[in-house]
Amino acid sequence: MRVLLVGGGGREHALALGLAGDPAVEALVAAPGNPGIAAVAELREVTPTDPAAVAALAVDVAADLVVVGPEAPLVAGVADAVRAKGIAVFGPSAEAARLEGSKTFAKDVMTAAGVPTARAYTCADAAAVARALDEFGAPYVVKDDGLAAGKGVVVTDDRALAERHAAECGRVVIEEYLDGPEVSLFVVTDGEAALPLLPAQDFKRVGDGDTGPNTGGMGAYTPLPWAPPGLVDDVMRDVVHPTLAELRRRGAPFAGLLYVGLAITAKGPRVIEFNARFGDPETQVVLALLETPLAGLLHAAATGTLAGHPPLRWRDGAAVTVVVAAEGYPAGPRTGDVITGADRAGIIHAGTRRDADGTLRSAGGRVLCGTATGPDLAAARDAAYALVRGVELTGAHHRGDIASAAVDGRITIPG
Ligand code: AMP
Repeated sequence: MRVLLVGGGGREHALALGLAGDPAVEALVAAPGNPGIAAVAELREVTPTDPAAVAALAVDVAADLVVVGPEAPLVAGVADAVRAKGIAVFGPSAEAARLEGSKTFAKDVMTAAGVPTARAYTCADAAAVARALDEFGAPYVVKDDGLAAGKGVVVTDDRALAERHAAECGRVVIEEYLDGPEVSLFVVTDGEAALPLLPAQDFKRVGDGDTGPNTGGMGAYTPLPWAPPGLVDDVMRDVVHPTLAELRRRGAPFAGLLYVGLAITAKGPRVIEFNARFGDPETQVVLALLETPLAGLLHAAATGTLAGHPPLRWRDGAAVTVVVAAEGYPAGPRTGDVITGADRAGIIHAGTRRDADGTLRSAGGRVLCGTATGPDLAAARDAAYALVRGVELTGAHHRGDIASAAVDGRITIPG
């Protein structure tokens, strides 16, 4: 199989490692890729959000499968353009990707499908915003209606801040606060058949103890020792299958990776959000434990043959990833700093570039992550932090508490 991987972040580095490790893959091309991906794939230039350019590249490299990593290309219609060339693509159509691209669309689908989620209003002016904030009370949850890479959401007790964020965004979704630990569940689907991956937890806030602003994600771990028994089966029955059925009914079947972001509340799992692609950095830990060949799995989803795919196989133990972020991230990351100690197994590149002379430099807010597995969560965590401590990058910061509450048994479900 010849595979083209679109994207160049940490998620794509993890996907590239998984794809390159599948014996069925004879050639792996990544566009644009990154210096970490360059070790396992041929890199090609492309603008990932240009559907015609990605489709032409897929033809040029004679791809049998295109895997689209990030959300923006999906929302732009990259999967549609590749499919129109008769090439199998792992990633939903632009229409189905609206599940991520529009919070209002996602709420509509959930309501029609009877999926448990937070009550919400879409608000376009200050009066509607004030009414919704009054009704739900603090903590206030205000979300930009468009794509914002996980950074368009404000959760706060500060009413003035909530109103200011709403005014800055224009159209917002204001919703009820969901109290409980969060779970990311990735589901590989061809639109009808669906296979869940291991549930993971990520860390959205920049600071230890979940303080400070939201980020793209500062770390993750899997599996979840505290998850209620039957969680995945319940979510497949109550959330995933009704959502896929509703999208089929609308003529927009979802084939690709359905990312279900959940809060485990006193009343059971509630959907916080859907994404239309693998989450970053949860992908790094989930794929670290996946034993089933990745390309074959994604190809089955891309070709409508997932029902015939064998059950997934997983390695024993646990995986943890810790993100190293640039100085100033998330508000205003500084880039261009020299990185040393990053050329080791387990270091996943997210925002890096390499000079012609081989010097590695930071090129984004989330620069890299240390990903490790171990016989249990504590061992995996210690190994991930050992990797991170070996990296030198001026001004860099990372959270010190990734997976710690789970290791110490401090995660509880309300109620
Ligand atoms: P989203 O972009 O919708 O995933 O939101 C980003 C983060 O904001 C989530 O991972 C949660 O931590 C938080 N969040 C979003 N919606 C809610 C909600 N209704 N209740 C509590 N926290 C939320």
